[in-house]
Amino acid sequence: MINNMKNLIININYIIKNKSKTKTLLKTTDWFCLQCKNMITSDFNRFLYDGKSEFNFTNPGGAKFNIILFNNASGCFEIGKPTFEFAWFENYKWQFSVCSRCGFHLGWNYSGSNNFYGLIRTSLIKGETLFN
Ligand SMILES: [Zn+2]
Repeated sequence: MINNMKNLIININYIIKNKSKTKTLLKTTDWFCLQCKNMITSDFNRFLYDGKSEFNFTNPGGAKFNIILFNNASGCFEIGKPTFEFAWFENYKWQFSVCSRCGFHLGWNYSGSNNFYGLIRTSLIKGETLFN
């Protein structure tokens, strides 16, 4: 009986420890999927193209996008064949990037002399907004 109680307390301590660990891993500088809150990338991964990391583009269908560039986005998953069709960045092929957890469309992955992501500002939520 005493041993069982001891084990229970050890287990609770373990859960509490790991919970606070998870909390501190999420930072205000991180970006999350708007739909499922999966961690996508961080401001520390921002990529500069022509000295800028934010761009406004209009697709052939007339939809406007405010995109942020990142050199790494571990929460993304690429779908489709890379193509030059309607490419926003010269000499870069693109593929769709979706959330690796829920499949929500987050933006595009660009490959050429560099590899980077252009993620749609309104498809993401920033840690500082999420935690307030
Ligand atoms: Zn998601």
